[in-house]
Amino acid sequence: MSGFPSTACLWAIRTRKTVHNWERAMTNNQFRRNPITGEWSIILEEEYNVKELLGRTQPRENTYYGQPTRYVSGSEAETLPEIFSIRDDDSQPNEPGWNVRVLPMEQPFLQIYGDLNSRGVGLYDVLDGIGAHELVIESDQVNLQIYDMDLTQVQNILRCYRERILDLKRDNRFRYVMVHKHHGEGDGQLRWHSHSHILATPIAPARLRGELVNTLEHYRYKERCLFCDIISQELSDGERVIYQNEKFVALSPFASRVPFSVWILPIKHETFFEWNTEFGKLAALLKSILVKFKTILGDPNFVMVLHTGPNLATGKERGYWKTLEKDYHWYIEITPRFRTFTSFEVGSGFQVNVVSPERATKILKTGELQ
Ligand SMILES: [Zn+2]
Ligand SMILES: [Zn+2]
Repeated sequence: MSGFPSTACLWAIRTRKTVHNWERAMTNNQFRRNPITGEWSIILEEEYNVKELLGRTQPRENTYYGQPTRYVSGSEAETLPEIFSIRDDDSQPNEPGWNVRVLPMEQPFLQIYGDLNSRGVGLYDVLDGIGAHELVIESDQVNLQIYDMDLTQVQNILRCYRERILDLKRDNRFRYVMVHKHHGEGDGQLRWHSHSHILATPIAPARLRGELVNTLEHYRYKERCLFCDIISQELSDGERVIYQNEKFVALSPFASRVPFSVWILPIKHETFFEWNTEFGKLAALLKSILVKFKTILGDPNFVMVLHTGPNLATGKERGYWKTLEKDYHWYIEITPRFRTFTSFEVGSGFQVNVVSPERATKILKTGELQ
């Protein structure tokens, strides 16, 4: 029966002459596949009203918090003792004089001490909740967001991520270290105090595994890094490149799942974020993108995730990730949060994106909500 028109298709053919404005019902919407994750999105070509979309960002109550939080300079005694800090040379741990401070999470998802105690319960697999959950306090002031910080401060935050990833990867129980930041939502006083979370997990996250499978397959076939191929194609097309400097590029991913999501990548191949030494250029590019989010998009809530290669030592001992250094490429993913979920998206896993990446790029480049 393949090739036989469905009832819906026959209906469309039969009614074509009688439906007014038929042409308007024809669309150039596309399914697009993200070659890195293998996920498919549906990109709508219609001229969706961007102003209306931006008005639908998740509500932010009290964008300004009048009181100092207990994470400001001078309140160090009110927090757990610090794990790491970037601070003035003449200052002491757990005292003022710091720029960025890393604390253990008070109610962590995972705990640092103990063994994994891997076991099967019937057909289910269980491990004890071992891992690390750390909190990066990105400024000693409340109400100061990355887009308003000076570049040295943004660099310090990125350097701090690097130091913590390197340290946590020394622990062979941890296969992955994930750094992420959410802007404008959640956790009590911290909502007004710029911060990020670092989680080290004994299991590689499912999304990362998908990325590793796809990038390895590309490497086996072409002996090239999939990310490097994407970058060179995007730089020559230019249609989705928002901003670039000598070392980094910011682009709208081809199969972008959410309006205005952005990837920031090193142009030259680099597997691990922690190998990066160009913090000045990275900080400048990251800040310029977040300034655009604030000024053009009206400061939407967003999630920023740092995707770096997994803990290589833990893979090598199992015979995995042999070509990882050649086939994986770190990147930063910034995803604004809009209320666009439909029941179809929840049920199918296909995300419907109402602003094409090409249109999003134009808007972010020109500043005009077209
Ligand atoms: Zn948080
Ligand atoms: Zn690469």
